[in-house]
Amino acid sequence: MSVDVAWVVAWMKRSAQVISEHRVELITLDREIGDGDHGENMDRGFQAVLTKLDDLPAAATPGDVLKLVATTLISTVGGAAGPLYGTAYLKASGAVGAETALDGAALVALLTAARDGIVLRGKAEPGDKTMIDAWTPAVVAAETAQSSGAGETEILAAAAAAAEAGAVATEPLVARKGRASYLGERAIGHRDPGAQSTALLLRAAADVAAG
Ligand code: ADP
Ligand code: MG
Ligand code: MG
Repeated sequence: MSVDVAWVVAWMKRSAQVISEHRVELITLDREIGDGDHGENMDRGFQAVLTKLDDLPAAATPGDVLKLVATTLISTVGGAAGPLYGTAYLKASGAVGAETALDGAALVALLTAARDGIVLRGKAEPGDKTMIDAWTPAVVAAETAQSSGAGETEILAAAAAAAEAGAVATEPLVARKGRASYLGERAIGHRDPGAQSTALLLRAAADVAAG
């Protein structure tokens, strides 16, 4: 499918479905190194997104949808992840501007802006055991794919695979940001819940593009 407003809407619907299916898994991960609410927070946020998508004006652009998602997540998710994901989608919206069809360069810009927004807000660095450990490899993989001539679907698939590997790679880390940082070495051996939700969201993006 072409990467246009229908793709963004389908991405958000798939995101809501996947987050709902993985709600318990995200709760369990967050129970191990946080306060156990990540699955509930994200599910509440994306169910609210689903409702909001029903009222989308016919002339909406990808950027409009991303902005609607941002404001909805900011007002419904709460915790650390709400403002972080909200900022990510808001910056992603700004990066695609008024474009109606997103090419590879626009997708790389979208992902980069999302990651940069999370860093701006939460100040995490790679290796801090946060969602940045999924976002940053995703951005790098997307850039690499795009500069080697890959198409949009392939770029998104590369980003998703890198985010998944990045989420797994948080397991041996000690956390330096968020609630898990209070645990010191006890966080070792557990996957970061926010990195896992990022991997799910980027896999949803790739799957929807692949059709
Ligand atoms: P809370 O910790 O407030 O309960 P959530 O459980 O919804 O919020 O989200 C926790 C996730 O947020 C963590 O797994 C981590 O990925 C992410 N996170 C927390 N702090 C930061 C930060 N400063 N930068 C990036 N991500 C962060
Ligand atoms: Mg939590
Ligand atoms: Mg909480």
